[in-house]
Amino acid sequence: MKISVQNAPIYLDNQATTPVDERVLAAMLPFFGAKFGNAASRSHRFGWEAEKAVDFARKRVASLAGATPGEIVFTSGATESNNLAIKGVAEAYRAQGNHIVTVATEHKAVLDPVRHLERSGLAVTVLPVRSDGLIDLDRLRQAILPQTLLVSVMYANNEIGVIQPVAAIGALCRERKVLFHCDAAQAFGKVPVDVNDAKIDLMSMSAHKLYGPKGVGALYVRRRMQLAAQMDGGGHEAGRRSGTLNVPAIVGFGEACALSAAGMESEGKRLRELRERLRGQLERGLEAVTVNGSLEHRLPGNLNVSFAGVNAETLLMNLPEIALSTGSACSSAVAEPSHVLRALGMSDDQARSSVRFGLGRYNTAEEIDHVSQRVIEAVKRLRSLTPFL
Ligand SMILES: *Cc1c(COP(=O)(O)O)cnc(C)c1O
Repeated sequence: MKISVQNAPIYLDNQATTPVDERVLAAMLPFFGAKFGNAASRSHRFGWEAEKAVDFARKRVASLAGATPGEIVFTSGATESNNLAIKGVAEAYRAQGNHIVTVATEHKAVLDPVRHLERSGLAVTVLPVRSDGLIDLDRLRQAILPQTLLVSVMYANNEIGVIQPVAAIGALCRERKVLFHCDAAQAFGKVPVDVNDAKIDLMSMSAHKLYGPKGVGALYVRRRMQLAAQMDGGGHEAGRRSGTLNVPAIVGFGEACALSAAGMESEGKRLRELRERLRGQLERGLEAVTVNGSLEHRLPGNLNVSFAGVNAETLLMNLPEIALSTGSACSSAVAEPSHVLRALGMSDDQARSSVRFGLGRYNTAEEIDHVSQRVIEAVKRLRSLTPFL
């Protein structure tokens, strides 16, 4: 099922993006060729064919979210979905309130739109997290004010994989009559997600995190909710997101959702076992290895660890045959240590010694054994150069 690349490094950065599953590619290809129609063309077969394919994909995406097809708005990805959700609610419900609550460990694609609204006069509360990366529900309860419109808390974190108590957050938001937006880009397709069980009103999804193509995603918008469009034009997606639909990508997204749904339980178990294998080997092979964030409330394929005394960037440069990262791909151009790790209370030095292992569908036990052996050697070598203990 893997599209193979000769002599490629071992890919362990599946939180940044995932490879396209070859079944997803196969489903998309006809829509780059003979089935090129515009899904909004109503007068001929090309348009009908495209529309039918989009409808089918919409059903598959909705099904994986526990939603109905009419509640799915296709976008260019989770960044756009987050912007549409946050700015769209703030604009549509301006008369009802002017306060948004979010969390320090959110992705920049949530924090930056929230900051944008703050500059235009909205009040914002950014909740801290505990040292395990989880929010404190009592603090959230206290942060919700009569003028609060929206609470935005991610499902699972992209750096530390920590899964927030979304069902409890949703119940609290419903009780206090505020809207709940959830950035589920990392969780969707990896763990069971149900917008009704978790009382989520708006949920962001991204195809390239679940073995689909880049540049496509969706926003779930609960029935009868108001939302101000952020992209005006031809009135596509019930007026919520104008622009000709990216039919091949949407078809691939639908296929990716169906594949994730079918394999979720067994794949989750397999990844958790691989992750624990990696953790066990690193902990047995090295001193002063710490796991960042709760192990219990965590995506099965994520391990984020600090190697005390080792600069993670240097470590990765010593491991060119392994594709790893120190954190978010979106902010890794920036030299600053991760805002997520800093929010857990870690020092700059601790944060700079952290590596994110993102395991995915194509990783094998042999790869994990090789990676842990190579990481252990490299950490020992770097530590011998600059003794730290
Ligand atoms: C990847 C990611 C995003 C951005 O998604 P794009 O589809 O790449 O725009 C947003 N939030 C989280 C949690 C992510 O992991």
